[in-house]
Amino acid sequence: MAETQARVELLAHTPEPLSVIYAAFRQCYHAGEAADMWPRLLSGGISREKQAEFVAGVMASGHASPIEHVSFTFAISGVSRSLTHQLVRHRIASYSQQSQRYVDASNADYVLPPAVAACPQARARFEAFMQEAGNAYRDIKALLEEADRGHSAAEDARFVLPNATASNIVVTMNCRTLINFFEARCCTRAQWEIRGVAHEMLKLCRKVLPEVFARAGARCERLGYCPEGAKFTCGRYPLPRQGER
Ligand SMILES: Cc1cc2nc3c(=O)[nH]c(=O)nc-3n(C[C@H](O)[C@H](O)[C@H](O)COP(=O)(O)OP(=O)(O)OC[C@H]3O[C@@H](n4cnc5c(N)ncnc54)[C@H](O)[C@@H]3O)c2cc1C
Repeated sequence: MAETQARVELLAHTPEPLSVIYAAFRQCYHAGEAADMWPRLLSGGISREKQAEFVAGVMASGHASPIEHVSFTFAISGVSRSLTHQLVRHRIASYSQQSQRYVDASNADYVLPPAVAACPQARARFEAFMQEAGNAYRDIKALLEEADRGHSAAEDARFVLPNATASNIVVTMNCRTLINFFEARCCTRAQWEIRGVAHEMLKLCRKVLPEVFARAGARCERLGYCPEGAKFTCGRYPLPRQGER
């Protein structure tokens, strides 16, 4: 087993994302049909600035369902199973994860936490354990294969793989889920690995759709104060005064 690093790529997103959101919002308040408005949106008949201003105004009111019509698909690789377990807790999303039943993990990589990497003794112990885990996986898989378990040996041998084992996953989230995801996972209270991935995803979303994601991020970015309390605050935003929340 060898150390690896996270990689986050944006594979695809809904075409014309701002116009899709604008059309969906306008449909709610307009007697006409979104389909008739669509050619004007694509030809520049309704400027991007006007669309952005309208979208920002309605979003600020809390009317959020129209942003669900736009989705982003990411390929996330070289992350730990510990990260993917946290990621898939976000239920309003779609996932396709590399299987440990069907993919041989004999040469699987692992994620080394920075704090472990910075402590020579902890690092040596960690790396020795990862080698031992890899050896145990291969030995158990070979023994099960000899015992006639064939290719399904991997599904039982994987029980000895640690949380650090690297995984690859494709995730699709709509804008509403992404905003909720960033609020939870861009906060300094989120675990370092998923926080790093969340910030990479946010950067990619901002490039495509700044009108929706410019102010996205940890919950404090929207609230203007830190909701985590005195014990957990990172100090970036003030705590709310008594009776303010
Ligand atoms: C810092 C941090 C620490 C955490 N620690 C733990 C922990 O120790 N143990 C643990 O189990 N989890 C933990 N979690 C996970 C957390 O509880 C959520 O499961 C996870 O963040 C997914 O968030 P979500 O439910 O908002 O997202 P989604 O599942 O995408 O849901 C989005 C939104 O839809 C609504 N929704 C979805 N499903 C339901 C439902 N069944 N009922 C009502 N409303 C629903 C909610 O408004 C929700 O916010 C932690 C998360 C963070 C950020």
